[in-house]
Amino acid sequence: MTPQLPQRPGVRPGYQSIGLYTSEPGGLRLDLSDNVNLWGAPPVATTAIARLAASRHANYPTPYGDALKRAVAQYLNVSPDMVVTGCGSDDVLDSAVRAFGPPGSRLAYLSPTFSMVPMLAWSNGLDPLPVPMTPGLDADAAGLLSTRAPVTYLCSPNNPTGGALRRATIERIVAEATGLVIVDEAYAEFAEGDCRELLRREGPLLITRTLSKAFGLAGLRIGYGVAAPEVVHEIEKARGPFKLSAVAEAAAVAALTEGRGWVEARVREAITNRGRLRDLLDPLPGLGVMPSDANFLLITLNADWPDATAVTRALARRGVGVRAFPGLPGIGEAIRVTIGPWKMMEEFCTALGKEAP
Ligand SMILES: *Cc1c(COP(=O)(O)O)cnc(C)c1O
Repeated sequence: MTPQLPQRPGVRPGYQSIGLYTSEPGGLRLDLSDNVNLWGAPPVATTAIARLAASRHANYPTPYGDALKRAVAQYLNVSPDMVVTGCGSDDVLDSAVRAFGPPGSRLAYLSPTFSMVPMLAWSNGLDPLPVPMTPGLDADAAGLLSTRAPVTYLCSPNNPTGGALRRATIERIVAEATGLVIVDEAYAEFAEGDCRELLRREGPLLITRTLSKAFGLAGLRIGYGVAAPEVVHEIEKARGPFKLSAVAEAAAVAALTEGRGWVEARVREAITNRGRLRDLLDPLPGLGVMPSDANFLLITLNADWPDATAVTRALARRGVGVRAFPGLPGIGEAIRVTIGPWKMMEEFCTALGKEAP
């Protein structure tokens, strides 16, 4: 039995059931478990950090990350007052839930999705309300809309399944939802389209993005959201000032401007390798590979294989880290693997092949 932490009197109800985030297994030779850029960080970002090392750290940065807002505005062709920055996109999501979700209300989300979503609900005093995806792995628009939740979370391309949601489905949810609709586009760089165009329509929509994945800066914690200026304004109040450090901001601006060519080349390589890995794994007996518009593949294991947890542990013993998704609703046992340089993909295949039934 796992030991129970002592109950702390005075802690807000709901908090004690939240666990800390664990990123197992850690410290492996080849970590393909968290969808970061396996080629590394854009070299210009590293240079920008080194340059900043000589500057005056005794000063605060701008309260809401003005330089990053301008760089994002240029990158996505929106105006700077439509951008909210944060300490990772988790921070933007958290602030949005706080601003738009009254405590005691519900956060509706497609399921399965990003594991942080129920935590965001609980820590802001909301009840998480998962709505299963359709058999075709799209969001269930009618199901989500019928909740009339003040906050609805969608993720496209979706983590961990990998595929983008249908555009028509997202459009309908944004058009008909009663509250804020969040579309988490953490993996948009690896997909064909995005939801920017929907920002011009009626209804509060927040698109969140991150520099942790395609842009290779997970260690610096940089995220942002794009929304109508009045939505940005409310989220910034909930977020508070100075969440983005000067170092993170300088690296992010470099990555989004001079670093773009480097990032785009790595993204193209990831997309190529995603197809190659899929072609290699798909014919193997007992494995299924979900269609992916992201920099990872979700691989399902049939009953001939050991379960996802056992396969993940076995791979870890061979020095290869993947993420286990045991008993995913509607999908079953699955592992998620990040796409990186082909050499890494070969190492993964060799290790997985040794566990084949
Ligand atoms: C990785 C990921 C994020 C990124 O979070 P950061 O806080 O920006 O590092 C957000 N949403 C999803 C779905 C992710 O997979």
